[in-house]
Amino acid sequence: MHQDEAWHQERPKEECGVVGLYVPGEEASRMIFFALFALQHRGQESSGIAVTDGTAVRMHKDMGLVSSVFDETILKSLPGDMGVGHNRYSTSGSSVHRNAQPIHCISEIGEIAVAHNGNLINAYELRKEMEAEGETFVSTADSEVIARLLVRNMKMGPEHAISATMQKLKGAYSVTVLTPRMVMGFRDPSGVRPLTVGRLGNGYMIASETCAFEPVGGVVEQEVHPGEFVIIDEKGMRMAQAVPAQPESMCLFEFIYFARPDSVMFNTSLYNARVRMGENLWKEHPVVADIVVPVPDSGIPAAIGYARASGIPFGEGMMKSRYIHRTFIQPDQRMRELGVRMKLAPLKENIEGKRVVLVDDSIVRGTTTNQIVKMMFDAGAKEVHVRITAPPIKFPCFYGIDMASKGELIAAVKSIDEISQHLGASSLGYLSVDGAMDAVGEGERRFCRACFTGNYPIPVPDKLSKLAFEEPPDVGEMATVSTGQMSLPVED
Ligand code: SF4
Repeated sequence: MHQDEAWHQERPKEECGVVGLYVPGEEASRMIFFALFALQHRGQESSGIAVTDGTAVRMHKDMGLVSSVFDETILKSLPGDMGVGHNRYSTSGSSVHRNAQPIHCISEIGEIAVAHNGNLINAYELRKEMEAEGETFVSTADSEVIARLLVRNMKMGPEHAISATMQKLKGAYSVTVLTPRMVMGFRDPSGVRPLTVGRLGNGYMIASETCAFEPVGGVVEQEVHPGEFVIIDEKGMRMAQAVPAQPESMCLFEFIYFARPDSVMFNTSLYNARVRMGENLWKEHPVVADIVVPVPDSGIPAAIGYARASGIPFGEGMMKSRYIHRTFIQPDQRMRELGVRMKLAPLKENIEGKRVVLVDDSIVRGTTTNQIVKMMFDAGAKEVHVRITAPPIKFPCFYGIDMASKGELIAAVKSIDEISQHLGASSLGYLSVDGAMDAVGEGERRFCRACFTGNYPIPVPDKLSKLAFEEPPDVGEMATVSTGQMSLPVED
C-alpha cells in the first residue's frame, strides 16, 4: 500500500476535481496543469489533460499525482488554447488505469473529452440499457455513461445534447467537456458537487473550486447553479438552465473537510466556516485543558476556533511529514506497524505533562485517530480530549465520496462512549449537524447531510443501497461501474 494511501484510508475521500478553460492564443495545457495542481486534494490517483487546437483533441493521462504525470515534454505535446483536466481518486481495483479521465469518445461532430466529479446512482441501469442498444464501453467508470450519452445527442447541438443527457442522469455530477470547438460544463440539478466559472485573461475558466483560479490568474465570477450549463467558445460564454433545478443539496462535507480552506462556496470562506465550527465545538463540548492541538493540516482552522472561543492556548502538538506522498518506496512490515508515525511525529516539548484538546475533522473507521491519541499519551500528555468537527458519520455516501460501507463506519456500530474507549481518549465530542450548519451560515442555501442523518436527498436505488449497507464486495473479482466508491458487478 502506498504510504499516503494508508493515511488517507481513514479520511473520507473526494472522488475528483475538474477543470475546463479557453485562453485564446495561449497554451491551455500549462494553465490546466497548474489548476489541477491546486485541485490535487480532490484526487490523487490519476490525472489527465485533453486539449484542442481546433482540429484534433489530444490527451495525456496516467496514474499518479499531477506533478508525476506531466512534464515539460508532455505539456508541449498538448498544443491548443482550449482544454479540460481531471484529477481522480478511486479505490483499489484492477481497472484503475483505463478509468482515468478525461474520457475520450468520437462523436458525429468530432472527438470529445469528458471529465466528471461525482457519482451516478443509475449508471448501472443506463449502461445495461445502452449496451442492449449496441453501445460498447471501454472503461467501467460511470463517467463513460455521461460521455456516451453526450456523444449520442451531440448532433442536436451542444445545449440540447447537455439537456438530453442530464434528463437521463441521476446522482451527483459536475462535468467539464471538450469538443474541437468549445468547452462545456454542467452541474446536476441538486448541485451536490461544486462548480464555478470565471474569467481567465481574454477567455474563461470552469473549475471544481475557486482555489484553482488564483494560481493561473483567473478571476472567479459565479458558481454554476444546480441544473445549469455553461458553454465557452469563440463567441464568449453563455450559461442557462439545462434541466429544472431540484431542491438544493450541496455536500456539507465539502465545507467540513473536502474542499481547500482557501476556497469560497456559497459566498462563504471555507477557512472562516471551519474556524466557526471549532468555536461551536467548544460551545457544545467544553473541557478544562492546557493546550488545543490540531491534527495537521485539516484540523488547524477548527483548532484555532476552539482555542479562540475557549481561551485555551493553541499550539502545535505534532509535525506532519510534507513529502511522504512523494516516495513510492513501500514501507516494510515493521514500519507499517508504526502506522501513523510515518506521517506524524509528536512535538514532545509542547504536550508533555499537559491536558490536550486534540481537534480533527472527521472519524471514519477510527483506526488513525486511536494511533494519534496513543502517540500523544506516549509523548507524555496527561489527558487527551478528542474533538471532531464532522458529526458522527453513520451512513455511506452515494454521491461521490468514498467513506466505506456502513459496517466499517465506527459511528454506525458504536456509541460515542464506546468510540471514546476504542480511541483510548479521555473524552470525545463531535460537533452536531446543527452546529456545523450554523458555522456555515446556511441562509437560503440547502445541504446534503445524508451521511450524518440517513436522509438521502436523491433517492438511492435498492440494489445500490443494499450493497453499501453490507460488507464491502470483493472488488478484485468485480469491475467497478462508479468513480470508485461503490462496486457493482458489470455483468448480471
Ligand atoms: S452523503 Fe455526506 S459526503 Fe455524501 S454528498 Fe451528502 S453530505 Fe456529502
